[in-house]
Amino acid sequence: MRGLTAPGPVRWIVRTLEDAGFETWAVGGAVRDALAGIPSGDWDLATRATPREVRRIFRRTVPIGVDHGTMGVLARDGTLFEVTTFRKDVETTGRHAVVEFADELDDDLARRDFTINAVAWHPIRKVVHDPFEGAVDLERGVLRTVGSPEDRLAEDYLRVLRALRFAGAFQLRIEGRTWRALTAAVPRVGVLSPERIREELEKILAGAAPPSRALGLYAASGLLSALYGELDATVGEERSGAGGDWFSHALRAVDLLPASRPTLRWAALLQGVGEPEAPGDEEAHPWDRGLLRSAAVLERLRSSNARIAEISQLVPWVARPPDPRGTDAELRRWLARAGRERLPALLRLWSAAVRADELRDGPWNRGDFNTLAARLRALARSGLPLEVGELALSGRDLIRMGYSPGPLFGEVLRFLLDQVLEAPELNRPEYLRDEASRWLEARMPDE
Ligand code: ATP
Ligand code: MG
Repeated sequence: MRGLTAPGPVRWIVRTLEDAGFETWAVGGAVRDALAGIPSGDWDLATRATPREVRRIFRRTVPIGVDHGTMGVLARDGTLFEVTTFRKDVETTGRHAVVEFADELDDDLARRDFTINAVAWHPIRKVVHDPFEGAVDLERGVLRTVGSPEDRLAEDYLRVLRALRFAGAFQLRIEGRTWRALTAAVPRVGVLSPERIREELEKILAGAAPPSRALGLYAASGLLSALYGELDATVGEERSGAGGDWFSHALRAVDLLPASRPTLRWAALLQGVGEPEAPGDEEAHPWDRGLLRSAAVLERLRSSNARIAEISQLVPWVARPPDPRGTDAELRRWLARAGRERLPALLRLWSAAVRADELRDGPWNRGDFNTLAARLRALARSGLPLEVGELALSGRDLIRMGYSPGPLFGEVLRFLLDQVLEAPELNRPEYLRDEASRWLEARMPDE
């Protein structure tokens, strides 16, 4: 493998096990990544030693998944490496497998999903052991299963999602029979747990490769329609003023955002979900549909409530920015609704939309974006009140004026904020006190 060396601790673990008489190899993702020329930290080792033997040989071990044959071995520098006993599957259900220890490396490689993931490399002897020709496939740019694709995908439907992710990440063409088996298996992926489905999408969004490749395959394979109906409806949904549809625009924008900002990539991906009309909610405003549908996607994936709120509250604003030529009052109202704290994220998202539209004609242009960004930044920084808490009059002041706290307090403060958003010079205690008294007197029951 072109002069590749494994990190010192990996070689130390392999040498220690082999000195004790147990054949040991590097396998899986790290070998694949190294073959593709990508650095990987995740070195997984496969050995003939049983977990009990591994524990006996090393001083510092952590039982990670003893049932599955995995022991963690702590290297001197404190890094944990997974050492897994050779295994073979004895029973599979489409969701998980019952495994048994195996004597031979080849058994272990044969249970791996794709040929590119079934290459073993010996970190000391520096030889590749590749019975399924995964290295050749990687070189030729082909993804195929180890063994019969129909059987291997039915054993574990997560492999359908993994295939699309790897094809995207390494720019592989999915081999014909594997592709046919994959599209045939798509209707069964619903048996997977929502968490595993979400993790797959999150790996695509957090990956170094442009996510549009794997996500384009989600659409092409039918997986998008099986799992993400809200997004599937944006395929072919015309974006007004643009040559293309919402889905392809969203994919371009996702690619343009950094992998280190998954929240932004999520919001960019989901930006169009509010746009298509669906039976029953034609009446709803696209803004509300965007919020509700993006929240529905994330909820189905069992995302945390914090994450659902964070992403779904960005989504509707991404597709529907305020008019860059609107009045200051309009933009202040807009900021008050969207929340000042969301502005930096939204500017990143719109900026990606601008660049996406520069790649392919669309309604955004850089001049409009620059105007909007400058105006919103200035208003957000101006210190002018955008929230009830920033008014020159508070609930405490109302109590001091002799009113008793109740639901009317919130209402009157919002009434005052509304005026101040329109005309910030009204944010003076005397004026707000007078207005508040007038408003409250008119609504309070006589005593
Ligand atoms: P990544 O870490 O980017 O998800 P990976 O290939 O390292 O990619 P892991 O889930 O870390 O994936 O698994 C390590 C290895 O275990 C894989 O390379 C593959 O050989 C095997 N493997 C993982 N999941 C499956 C599966 N569902 N079916 C068969 N083999 C699998
Ligand atoms: Mg891995």
